[in-house]
Amino acid sequence: MGGEEKMIPYGHQSISEDDKQAVLGVLSSLFLTQGPEISSFEGNVAGYCGARRAVATNSATSALHIACLSLEVGKGDIVWTSPITFVASANCALYCQAEIDFVDICPSTFNMSTEALEQKLILAEREGRLPKVVIAVHMAGQSCDMSKIGALALRYGFKVIEDASHALGARYLGEPIGNCRFSDITVFSFHPVKIITTGEGGMAVTNNHDLADRMILRRSHGITRDPLTTRGKPDGPWYYEQVELGFNYRMTDIQAALGNSQMKRLDSFVTRRNELAKGYEDRLTTAGITAQCRHLDCYSSYHLYILRVNPQVSKVNRRQLFDHFRRHNVFANVHYIPVYWQPFYRSLGFEPGLCPEAECYYEQAITIPLFPSLSEADHAKVIELVNSAVEGSSTR
Ligand SMILES: *Cc1c(COP(=O)(O)O)cnc(C)c1O
Repeated sequence: MGGEEKMIPYGHQSISEDDKQAVLGVLSSLFLTQGPEISSFEGNVAGYCGARRAVATNSATSALHIACLSLEVGKGDIVWTSPITFVASANCALYCQAEIDFVDICPSTFNMSTEALEQKLILAEREGRLPKVVIAVHMAGQSCDMSKIGALALRYGFKVIEDASHALGARYLGEPIGNCRFSDITVFSFHPVKIITTGEGGMAVTNNHDLADRMILRRSHGITRDPLTTRGKPDGPWYYEQVELGFNYRMTDIQAALGNSQMKRLDSFVTRRNELAKGYEDRLTTAGITAQCRHLDCYSSYHLYILRVNPQVSKVNRRQLFDHFRRHNVFANVHYIPVYWQPFYRSLGFEPGLCPEAECYYEQAITIPLFPSLSEADHAKVIELVNSAVEGSSTR
């Protein structure tokens, strides 16, 4: 067994000397928060994505919350998302006192199935229970079928938030994720396992100035100093007003400086992730083990590399493959447990069986290591371990 072997995680940040210098620079500057790095980071990401506006936050979770609020999600409203996502994609609706529901996934792309979405919309229209917002999650970095979701949004009158926490640097129909061509708002995460990092951090981008202004207000206590938004008459230059119930969801300049520095390497990160993914795709050809289907409309950022182990065909099941990795110090992971299986969601009345494809996916999915600094040797080791798990039943 590999007690001596170094541990290989499923994902890892990549911090350069330049990144460190950028952070140190802020530490000796005038502003640690709400200084020039924030607006430059916002401009950088908006420019990269081709969106008009960007609102940096202390996490993607916060960005999802203020995105929902800006779309006036509240009590009595319904929000739909995919069950195969991090819990934050659904929690944001509950923060706003809205109801959440889940649309089953497509078994090959692992994204929300647009057929399932359309079927559910037809039923919901009959029952007068259409969603106000649908949150589309770009699973592992591959875009959802946004043109279809956008068409359904027009037909059924809902708003669209893209949870692109996995998908900074990805493209759809040749254009960057985040241009909001088929959505109202797109949200990114800069948690260390994501494509670029700010430690903790997130951002919402949009082409709608009104939505951006509302998100900015909610990001910082609902407070404004803008004479155009204040209701009373300023009695001095210190004057401010709280006009909404907001939060402190601000990102620091320390984080934004790291983000600005990381943005310079975004394309190289995504290119490297694609090369490693291609290596897996070409060399993992074992029966019963399939990768996320690549859609021709998409260029994935490959935040995650997910395999499905079909126990009817494969010689090992997902658990056996996972344990085989562990024995060799490879820390595979599973993304995700269906959100509505969580005890909290069960307490809201959700029951297993709601999304059969998502539940079947969960039984079979395993995330294998993929990150820009994964060495060729470790990459080869992961491939070798998949193949040996399937060949050598002695490893069970
Ligand atoms: C990571 C993640 C989030 C939350 O991001 P934070 O920045 O940690 O709040 C939300 N949605 C998805 C799909 C994620 O992967």
